[in-house]
Amino acid sequence: MRFASLGSGSKGNCSVVASDSISIMVDCGFSYKDMVTRLKRLDLNPDALAAIVVTHEHSDHVNGIKALSNRHSIPVYASRGTWIEIGADNYKFINHIDGLFSIGDINITPIPVPHDAREPLQFVFGCSEKRLGILSDLGSLSNRILTAFSELDAVSVEFNHDISLLQRGPYPSYLKTRISGDYGHLNNNQAAKLVEQIASDRLCTVVACHISEINNEVALVEKALESVLKDRDIEYLVASQSDGFGWITVERR
Ligand SMILES: [Zn+2]
Ligand SMILES: [Zn+2]
Repeated sequence: MRFASLGSGSKGNCSVVASDSISIMVDCGFSYKDMVTRLKRLDLNPDALAAIVVTHEHSDHVNGIKALSNRHSIPVYASRGTWIEIGADNYKFINHIDGLFSIGDINITPIPVPHDAREPLQFVFGCSEKRLGILSDLGSLSNRILTAFSELDAVSVEFNHDISLLQRGPYPSYLKTRISGDYGHLNNNQAAKLVEQIASDRLCTVVACHISEINNEVALVEKALESVLKDRDIEYLVASQSDGFGWITVERR
């Protein structure tokens, strides 16, 4: 299994998770044209996608989803609440009460998260004994989330904002309250704490994603990551809005 990002941040999010036999897009937060250009960087064209799995209906996650799904007959997997908001035609229901489902040889565990959307989910992907977590857009942590995202080989985690940059920054106060609230986004300290708590002996790779260009800085994210990963044999990188990150192979120690 391997994964990559076409771009990550408040202006658009989109990842691809692939096995040897299929590729699955996770969120689709860029316009159709932009998406096709970004897919080329990963040597993929839209017809190679077996499915689009959606976390929630915010525009930075679904901007190009209908165009992509309709033009290339790609099924959209989402919670019922997310589907009601986006209204995709080629819809497949994700039942997060029952948990695990599969697309080809990739199994997927949906995990409900606290975020101000209708029925938001995040996901753990499994294939050939390897486990990858993708976790963004959540305002707070719970034991359920920590348990679901434990024993991973690789994880992408939201490091959305630095608390003091957010408070000193230009956003109106209602937006600062929303972002920093329990149903908003993780700050660097919360995300680092999460990484520390889920970093088992098998974890090899941590990607920091969904970084605010206005309320955060890469150096602060790296500092937060270093504070919890120092002396650990775990590689980390920071995903960018413009380029995301290239293919990372999920390794099992
Ligand atoms: Zn988002
Ligand atoms: Zn969101």
